[in-house]
Amino acid sequence: RKQTQKHRRGRRHRFLRAAASSRRPDRSDTPMPSRSLRVAVIGAGAAGLVAARELRREGHAPVVFERTDGVGGTWVYEADADASASPEPLVTQRRSNLDASLRTNLPRECMGFLDFPFVAGPDGDTRRFPGHAEVLRYLQSFARRFDLDGLVRLETEVVRVSRETSGTSWRVRYSRKASGSEKRETDEEVFDAVVICNGHYSQPHFADVAGVDAWPGKQLHSTSYRVPEPFHGQVVVVIGCGPSGTDISRDIAGVAKEVHLASRWSLSATSEKLPGHANMWFHSEIDRAQEDGSVVFHDGSRVKADVIMHCTGYKYNFPFLTNDATVSVDDNCVDPLYKHVFPPQVAPRLSFIGLPLKDAVFWDMYPSED
Ligand code: FAD
Repeated sequence: RKQTQKHRRGRRHRFLRAAASSRRPDRSDTPMPSRSLRVAVIGAGAAGLVAARELRREGHAPVVFERTDGVGGTWVYEADADASASPEPLVTQRRSNLDASLRTNLPRECMGFLDFPFVAGPDGDTRRFPGHAEVLRYLQSFARRFDLDGLVRLETEVVRVSRETSGTSWRVRYSRKASGSEKRETDEEVFDAVVICNGHYSQPHFADVAGVDAWPGKQLHSTSYRVPEPFHGQVVVVIGCGPSGTDISRDIAGVAKEVHLASRWSLSATSEKLPGHANMWFHSEIDRAQEDGSVVFHDGSRVKADVIMHCTGYKYNFPFLTNDATVSVDDNCVDPLYKHVFPPQVAPRLSFIGLPLKDAVFWDMYPSED
């Protein structure tokens, strides 16, 4: 919350300024740095791509490490979970968490970088709130347009980032497939700076549900959800009423016997049937799950459920910063950071792009003159 609120104020300011100005400043006027730095960028999603472009524009030499086999990050749809005939058990980490029918929840006008608008191509998805494949196409064309693919080392996962004793450079250890073999090998390189763009939608956060260990049903996190079919005829309790909870519960309601949304924001003391849906109810938080298969809500209602779906968000996670005390994640807040980007102690040699939640994220990643 803190991460979001503080950030919103800055973003509103930048939005007004961008709207007032008819064009971006001419970056060719920007003086070149006195020394070109070698910069490791971790992740080739939207944040990593735009960071790499800007670093190169400023005369630096970025190397982008991407653990998967393509650019685009979150927007690469992985269909593998479709295959599960029944909901799979708890998954702890996934690259992509898009469901098959996901469309953007922001209009495309708010999802392009300011100087590379997200306009509908003749052969693409021309809707104002397009499907996920269109966003991936946009990011891939951004990479092509600014010639970024050559900067990206695919299937190369950063496993450790540590500060050199000099204090001005960073040792980056990474793991990649050995050439001509399925085995992985590790290597290390030293960089002048590191930009962390590893995203924050891959480490699921699960709700604590009292009694759930003895409860016989299946649990999963929204990160594993792809299509509704596996939930045919089932009673599903969805925890959380954010964008994922509302989208997924409606998707599932088309095939499930019943869908029960549990939300801490429920203002009603009793459960309510959701208008316009024959098989959806809105409840307060879950009180407990029981051995006999029932899920009991704070409002006193109970249902015998087959599945609990946790649409309860994600956790910030920087597993490669193991020995570094520069920042910590406390109560899902990354601290201390100046403008949610720079840890003051080591700025500008270490930075984080794309941390704020609930915002026009592509705009936030775009550099401003603040
Ligand atoms: P990511 O896209 O997650 O990219 C991070 C990259 O880092 C990944 O490619 C990952 O493989 C790589 N990586 C991670 N760790 C390592 C490592 N150790 N070494 C090497 N590589 C690594 N935003 C919107 O603007 N509009 C929407 O409608 C919208 N809908 C969303 C719906 C869902 C379900 C989710 C989960 C998010 C949605 N978002 C939306 C937010 C979305 O995350 C952002 O749009 C944006 O894609 C974030 O980009 P990123 O580069 O910060 O992170």
